[in-house]
Amino acid sequence: MATPNLAGGAASAALKTVLDSPEIGRLIDELEATRWTGRPGYPVRTMVGLALAKSLYALPTWTRVVELVADHWKLQRVLGCEGNPPSKWAAYRFAAKLRENAPAVERCIDAVVGGLKEKLPSYGTDLAIDASDMPAYANGQRYLSNGGPERETYSDPDASWGHRSAVSTRKGGGFYGYRLHAAVCTATDLPVAWTAETARDHETRFVVPLIDTAKRRGAMVATAALDKGYDIQRIHNECMERDCLPLIPLKQTPDVKRGDDAPPTCSHGTWTFAGSDRKRGASKWRCPTGECAPASTWVAATRLHPLIPRETKRWKAAYRKRAAVEREFGRLKNQWGLKPLRVRGLDRVRLHADLTILTKLACALSRARAATAPTHRQRGSSRASARPAPMRVRPAARLE
Ligand SMILES: [Zn+2]
Repeated sequence: MATPNLAGGAASAALKTVLDSPEIGRLIDELEATRWTGRPGYPVRTMVGLALAKSLYALPTWTRVVELVADHWKLQRVLGCEGNPPSKWAAYRFAAKLRENAPAVERCIDAVVGGLKEKLPSYGTDLAIDASDMPAYANGQRYLSNGGPERETYSDPDASWGHRSAVSTRKGGGFYGYRLHAAVCTATDLPVAWTAETARDHETRFVVPLIDTAKRRGAMVATAALDKGYDIQRIHNECMERDCLPLIPLKQTPDVKRGDDAPPTCSHGTWTFAGSDRKRGASKWRCPTGECAPASTWVAATRLHPLIPRETKRWKAAYRKRAAVEREFGRLKNQWGLKPLRVRGLDRVRLHADLTILTKLACALSRARAATAPTHRQRGSSRASARPAPMRVRPAARLE
């Protein structure tokens, strides 16, 4: 259970800073304009703060957040509900209100991402894209009894069976629920765009929406690193059409087995990479001795011959940074309460993912602003003296 000093300390200070930020302030204003009151009259600011506290303290349910606030007067003071903490029913009604006003939540996320881009210029330039399982809060038993007929109704009708590939620490197989598809910045480890979808939907469908959302939010999206599961020509084209260079290892398709991905060769040996031309959409390769005529040739960009060739150091170094998305999934799940799901239905799962990541990004933005704000002594001095913004975000407050 929560310890009073922690609830009254750093985490509640972080909550206050985030709640007072202009981006969250605008969300509060927009929701107030819809004339919602959490009967018996909780201010919108209190309820937005409650929603942020849920992720900040990594709590799985509204009941737990309401209990935490009820137990800690400092949190009540931050939320502006001293002596009158909200009930779980007020929290449920407010969550419904947020789902009805999804565009306002989206605008708030856009603004926070835009604010981060301003503070951390490299944020959103190089992305790592992947999907991660979110098992449903529901009975996922596929069969009514062992060897019996397949179950036709589940307690979460939006959840579905997805396939999980094997990694070193667990077996592959089916899982029942949802998947979070995310584009994470490899320089800052911070998410830029994401979407929660039912598990059966294939991950290759969400690359375009993620890149387009990241760009709409002001990210440059110069490169995207994706694992082998995304190695199809369509994804390569979709990235290139968006001026984003894909970094994807090759799947052993028939053309790869034939060796179609190999660089050009001649009697002098294997041709060497001599740079790419984005406008031309091709990479240049040279005869190793220069004796051939012509001594160089252009190879049009395809998944077999990307503009950043897989044999280059640049590709290898950039692809290694794909791990950023996996690390971020781990942090969101284990430190920010993304897991376990304690809601059912796609719109509730989406709100849960949005609030979790919004809270994390809003905390990162507050810290970036605090780190670059001129101190008393520095005020008025040149901008160059400001300390660089931190790249890392501290984990959410722990309760246990
Ligand atoms: Zn040659």
